[in-house]
Order: sequence, then C-alpha cells, then structure tokens
Amino acid sequence: MPRPIQAIIHTESLRHNLARARAAAPDARIWAVVKANAYGHGIERVYEGLRGADGFALIDLDEAQRVRHLGWRGPILLLEGVFEQRDLELCSRLGLWHAVHCDEQIDMLATHKTNVPHRVFLKMNSGMNRLGFTPERYRAAWTRLNLLPQVEEISLMTHFADADGPQGIAQQMAVFNAVTQDLPGERTVANSAATLRHTAGGPLQKPDLAAQVAGDWVRPGIMVYGGSPDYPEYDAAHWGIQPAMTLQARIIGVQEMAVGAALGYGSSFVAEQATRIGIVACGYADGYPRLCPTGTPVLVDGQRSRTLGRVSMDMLVVDLAHLPEAGMGSMVTLWGKAGNGAVVSIDEVAAKAGTVGWELICALSLRVPVVVDPAPETNASR
Ligand SMILES: *Cc1c(COP(=O)(O)O)cnc(C)c1O
Repeated sequence: MPRPIQAIIHTESLRHNLARARAAAPDARIWAVVKANAYGHGIERVYEGLRGADGFALIDLDEAQRVRHLGWRGPILLLEGVFEQRDLELCSRLGLWHAVHCDEQIDMLATHKTNVPHRVFLKMNSGMNRLGFTPERYRAAWTRLNLLPQVEEISLMTHFADADGPQGIAQQMAVFNAVTQDLPGERTVANSAATLRHTAGGPLQKPDLAAQVAGDWVRPGIMVYGGSPDYPEYDAAHWGIQPAMTLQARIIGVQEMAVGAALGYGSSFVAEQATRIGIVACGYADGYPRLCPTGTPVLVDGQRSRTLGRVSMDMLVVDLAHLPEAGMGSMVTLWGKAGNGAVVSIDEVAAKAGTVGWELICALSLRVPVVVDPAPETNASR
C-alpha cells in the first residue's frame, strides 16, 4: 500500500475563484497566472479549472509549451520575457506574448528574424525596483520598440510592491499613469491583492483609480488557488475564495502520553496532562513546513485540532485529546478542505510557520501523489 498521503486539486474551486476574479474586474480580461507549475498544483491539473481565463501568464518557456500542448490557442504571456535570443524563436513559433523589461531584450528583438511580429508588454519599474524600465527611461524604450518591424503591438505593464499592505498602490499608479498617459496600448497592473482590494467594489478602492487598477487585463495568481493575498487582514473566506489544493494524510500510529512525557525531536512538547496523540504520515519532506510550531491548525476527520511538537521528515503529530472517535486511519487535513466541508487555509498554516500561502503550495513535494477532483476524463495529469 502506498504511504497514505495525497494532495487533491479541486477543479470546481479553481473555476469558482476565477469567477471571483472576473466579478472583481468585470471589464478586464484575466491572465490566470500559472507560473511555478501553477503554484505547485501542476499546469496539466489546473487546466480544466482555469481554461475559462482569457490567457495564461507564466515564466518558463517549457511551461508555455505545456500550455500549448494542452490545446490552448489563446494568449500566453511570458511575465519576465525571454532569457536569451533563441527564446524568441519559440515565441514566434508558439505565438507567445512576452514582457520586455530591459534594453538587452530589445536588442534581441531587433536582431530577431521573423515574419510574425510580436505582441510585447513593456514593463515599467514604477517603484518596486525589481524588473522594468525606470519612469525616466520608459518612453525611450517604447519609442525604440515601436520602430522595430519585429513588434506588432506594445502593451503597458507594471507590478505593485504593496497592493496587499498599508502603503497601497496610489503612488506606483500615479507614476505609471504620469508616464503612460498619452501612450496607446492595453494596460495591466493588478495582481491578486490589487484585483481584490483596489478595483471598484474592493474595500480600498479609490473611485478615480479603480478602473485603472483593473486596466485591460488583471493578473490574479494566489487568489485563483484559494489563498488570500492579504491574510491576516482579510482571509480567504472573507474574499469568497476556496482552496484549490487539499493536502491530507492518515493517522498511522496512536500514543497515550503520560503527564510529563515529552514528544518528538528536541522533546519540544511536554504533556501537561495525560493525553492521546495521533502520528500522521506527513512531514517536511512532503512540503509541510518544519517551522510550524505546536498549535498549528489541522482537521482530524473534519474536526479542528492542532499539531504537537516538532514536524519531522516523514511524520507530524496531532492532538486527539478532544477527539475520542479519532484514531488509526483517521484522515488529517493539513490544508484545504475536509470531506465535511471544513477548511483549514494555507494562509493559517503559513502564518504559523512565519511565511505565506504562496510558499506552501509551491513547495508541495514531488513524492506526494496528486489527484484531480473530479477525475479528468482523459488522463491529462503528469
Ligand atoms: C506572480 C505574478 C502575479 C500574480 O501574483 P499574485 O500575488 O499571486 O496574484 C502577477 N503579476 C506578475 C508580474 C507576477 O510575477
């Protein structure tokens, strides 16, 4: 029998979350962001749930090929553009749209031989200081691209550093608007946090900015997978989004601990009263964070409980003190939803580990078997 651990990808939740993004920005088109193998879910596994998007945004050319291989004929955007000259050949061949964030990428385009002119997204560094042309150099880059026969259409793009926090988006939006005001082309600026918080209907919307934040395309990532972009200020339930991934494993051992008995490596948990504990077939080698301390929430047979002691490589321990029915074979939901509909969000677990939901789902280990629910008619997963 295989080790009793499994991840489940919920196709209906992906569809629901995508619809939630659409409701937040009804006049924009949607890039479903599927970089990092669809945030650890598997591009092939999320395709059915996300094919209602208007395009797929990602980073690896290999992933772009996989999306085309699934039969997607619509837009695909390379969020970081190309990494070397010959990547442009693949862009021409597969009709990939690509970000242009530096002079080197324009140089590559200028010497690229193609009879299919490219759609490019010119990226501005409006304050995040990661990728993009500074506001001072942006228009010169636009002009240079506009003169290239290899370029068919230029869209305008930037990325927010603080859409999820108190600083917000106003300053970066003002920089972007000032520079791009009279430039033609479609615009895309919003990640999940901006899409939920700063578009019309969002709690932090400014009426004069909301439509510009939605722009022509929004780029939701984490919200599509059911993670809240601004936990703990707002949780996934508040945003009306559902977990797209469940990680679950069974209890494979039960121990009775006496008062004063210690648990696991480092003996970090000591029983203050006699108690029952369950040993679960999930550890940090499966992608469950070792940094989750005693008290991290889990569901045991759909009932809330908590972890105890240190997470080890292949096992972790849950509290069964208040769950007399639970025992050998009980199903433990590490994140996602249980059979009874109860949810423990990636955000809650991540917060306990001092990280964010993004990191948890992206780090699901290869050794965890993954199934798609409902099972696809043809076996498209790999
Ligand atoms: C990853 C990414 C997104 C999606 O971000 P989320 O916070 O997960 O919604 C949007 N735009 C760009 C450029 C990205 O790299």
